[in-house]
Amino acid sequence: MLAGIGWSGGFGYTAAGMLRPDRDPMTSRLEQLCLDKGLKMTEQRRVIARVLSDSADHPDVEKVYRRATAIDPRISIATVYRTVRLFEEANILARHDFGDGRSRYEEMPSDHHDHLIDLQSGRVVEFRNEEIEKLQRFIADQLGYDLVGHRLELYAVPRQGKRNTE
Ligand SMILES: [Zn+2]
Repeated sequence: MLAGIGWSGGFGYTAAGMLRPDRDPMTSRLEQLCLDKGLKMTEQRRVIARVLSDSADHPDVEKVYRRATAIDPRISIATVYRTVRLFEEANILARHDFGDGRSRYEEMPSDHHDHLIDLQSGRVVEFRNEEIEKLQRFIADQLGYDLVGHRLELYAVPRQGKRNTE
């Protein structure tokens, strides 16, 4: 989902991590994926699934924990770790390593996108560029391979004078 700029439909948090006022009270997409996969959903898992579904900013476990405990203070950090790992193993949550040693998470996207990481703010901007997609297939092809996937991360700092919009 391309949610790098502002917020996009269905997400309860903006890219800056602010809670959206008009959050959808229905079953989150991630929770539905859990149910589809036959995962047992406890109340705490549901809260964590909801938080992850609502977060467009690729949060780390600490951030997920803070958001989850704002909803249910009984949730422990250990539960968040366990649940995130469970979702990751079920292939419904994507884990990223953006170079600072902390894993960050997003709902498994239905469409492929790449990431630009703002090294000053830690903000993650999603993008997709067809030229790059094509070029990567071309390179694999030249080397005698069919490309089946890739990860691309751009590490960047805001240009001098450009006001950060967040
Ligand atoms: Zn993303």
